[in-house]
Amino acid sequence: MVVPTFDLLGGYKIPVVGLGTWQCNNEKELEDALNAALENGYRHIDTAYLYQNEHIIGRVLKEWFTSGKLKREDVFITTKLPMEGIHPDRVEPFLKKSLENLQLDYLDLYLIHFPVGITQRKNPSDSLHTIPTDHIAIWKKFEQQVDAGRARSIGISNFNIKQVDRIVKNARVKPASLQIENHVFLQQAELVKFAQDQGIVVVAYSPLGSPAYGNYVATLGITAKPTPSILNHPKVNEIAKKHGKTAAHVALRFQIQRKIAVIPKSVTANRVQANINLFDFTLDDQDMKALRQLDIGEACRVCDFKFAKVSSDHPEWPFPQ
Ligand code: NDP
Repeated sequence: MVVPTFDLLGGYKIPVVGLGTWQCNNEKELEDALNAALENGYRHIDTAYLYQNEHIIGRVLKEWFTSGKLKREDVFITTKLPMEGIHPDRVEPFLKKSLENLQLDYLDLYLIHFPVGITQRKNPSDSLHTIPTDHIAIWKKFEQQVDAGRARSIGISNFNIKQVDRIVKNARVKPASLQIENHVFLQQAELVKFAQDQGIVVVAYSPLGSPAYGNYVATLGITAKPTPSILNHPKVNEIAKKHGKTAAHVALRFQIQRKIAVIPKSVTANRVQANINLFDFTLDDQDMKALRQLDIGEACRVCDFKFAKVSSDHPEWPFPQ
């Protein structure tokens, strides 16, 4: 299967489906998922320094490159500058560390993970504090990484309209991509339109609504707010049945037809295999309209970053609450 791509500002192309890898820290599980993904045609992998799994991805990619099954230019690798790296002096060292972990010479896309910087921890037990965060100074360092050939494209994640606009207005190298939480229940139409009008490719994280998010934050002693299940929603399932597909297919295809790329995470081989089978059906206007009507908005933001234990009164906190 050859996955279609969206054009990025700067001339590169991003496959419209990628494999998400957050909460994938079991080495064997992630290796198996990556192998299943690459065997089934995935050519886009999303990771982050924060996920602490870049080294596993690097090892698997190295095997594929060394065996000659894939060439470096066949795959699109995204990783992200962590919040503790959001300081002009720390951009390049963190990017170089990610390259080393991934065993790569360049990244396809490097993102600012979140618009709020925090103190750099020396030990995992150190408490975290937010720090003044100058996006323009950070962005200039990102542009230098493009100049140096360490990142082909650069972008932002979890930025709101005002923050995207400020970067665009001050950038020499425009952001190629904006990665945000986006799914049937949190469609963020205004932010998506704003970014797409600037030529920025939107990538939807948690495109299935991150059904295991509550379990993850519970391990950190946090209770996630209850949000409805996209995959069990009657309308999503009705549309899926009509096309002989699954609710997950409908949720992902909906985004692709909105010209939004998707990075569903799975470590279950048959789901990895299934989640990329999105190109043998088309949602019609009636389906798209019905799905658009399922938007609930902010109340359905799953990934509210409370797990990062930083305070939402920082001036660059991106979300309304
Ligand atoms: P997703 O919406 O991709 O949901 C992943 C969950 O859905 C997993 O529990 C997975 O289970 C399950 N799942 C996957 N496919 C299916 C299927 N076909 N049927 C039923 N269940 C399924 O959530 P994520 O929050 O992981 O988001 C995706 C990716 O986006 C992340 O992995 C990460 O790469 C990125 N991300 C980026 C963020 C940012 O701040 N920039 C924040 C959050 C995510 P299982 O694995 O057991 O199969």
